[in-house]
Amino acid sequence: MSTVINDIEVIKAKTTKIHEVDFDNLKFGTVFSDHMLVCDYNKGQWHAPKVMPYQPITLDPSAKIFHYGQSVFEGMKAYKDAEDQVWLFRPLDNFKRLNISSKRLAMPELPEAYFMEGLKALLKVDKDWIPKGEGRSLYIRPFVFASGNGFHASPADAYKFIIATAPSGSYFSGTVRVLIEQTYSRSANGGVGFAKAGGNYAGQFYPTQLAIEKGYQQVIWTDDNTHEFIEEAGAMNIFVRIEDTLITAPTSDRILDGITRKSIIELAKSEGMDVEIRKLSVREVVEAAKEGTLKEMFGAGTAAVVSPISGFGYNGKDYTLPELEETYASFLKKRIVDIQTNNAADPFGWRYKVV
Ligand SMILES: *Cc1c(COP(=O)(O)O)cnc(C)c1O
Repeated sequence: MSTVINDIEVIKAKTTKIHEVDFDNLKFGTVFSDHMLVCDYNKGQWHAPKVMPYQPITLDPSAKIFHYGQSVFEGMKAYKDAEDQVWLFRPLDNFKRLNISSKRLAMPELPEAYFMEGLKALLKVDKDWIPKGEGRSLYIRPFVFASGNGFHASPADAYKFIIATAPSGSYFSGTVRVLIEQTYSRSANGGVGFAKAGGNYAGQFYPTQLAIEKGYQQVIWTDDNTHEFIEEAGAMNIFVRIEDTLITAPTSDRILDGITRKSIIELAKSEGMDVEIRKLSVREVVEAAKEGTLKEMFGAGTAAVVSPISGFGYNGKDYTLPELEETYASFLKKRIVDIQTNNAADPFGWRYKVV
């Protein structure tokens, strides 16, 4: 049986898996809701998306995604408030960034209505999968990849755009210890670092494994040219607080333009905090750590919103950050989460009501 929601055809799953799910013990990104949105591109155009039961997809072994890595994705969340209203956070920014990523990988850009109306229809169908309560949300993973066939190293002639969702519990990984990378690079000038391209993450796994073997949890990437300037983490932008000034690197073609990062910058400025967007050398951070003026470091990204860093390794030495009672990290996180979950006014117009 098919119905239509927001102009999108919906083919409903015959049964639901929701009763098998332990919503109090969700491991991030491992349980998927009943439906997905699927949209195909071929013969030079995107065709109307459909909501259908979540299921495996079939691809030819010569599909170009496997060989040439044409694949980009997004990460966003839906929140349910006390009145069961459903909210997104700056979703048009995710839509625009998906197209920026696609363009860089010579993939076709999506029409806005297919993304937005498709996403809203999917969320309405799977509304019961959006968990309610502190720290809980439905993680949303839109992605586009080359489904067209052929061993020839050229852009595919067919693509798929899919949105899958995964309910997630409170995502707090504790504080992390990070290694400031001096050998490997995540991205380079003129490269694809600004795109949420699958290959960017594949390239980080090995250096991250080496860092984990040394006792760190994550890598902080530095500029590929000199390894002297702090850029970002694997899936988070980085903020450093020296005295009472928040510093973050400017975005570039090497750094992903994070929506959490720019929200934190705007919010911090509106709270009267000192924010500097500028190149930040590792030497400056090390000096600040030695002088005791380095107060905080934290990552910023959709999954954890803000992820505090407890210490870092550099040049074979370890530096530990102070344990403060009140941190900018927790203040800014609470402000953002309150806006996301409709617990506070939204003077910025970031919240987007789905239903
Ligand atoms: C997704 C991502 C971020 C964070 O972006 P948000 O829009 O805040 O989720 C930062 N850096 C990289 C490399 C990323 O992939």
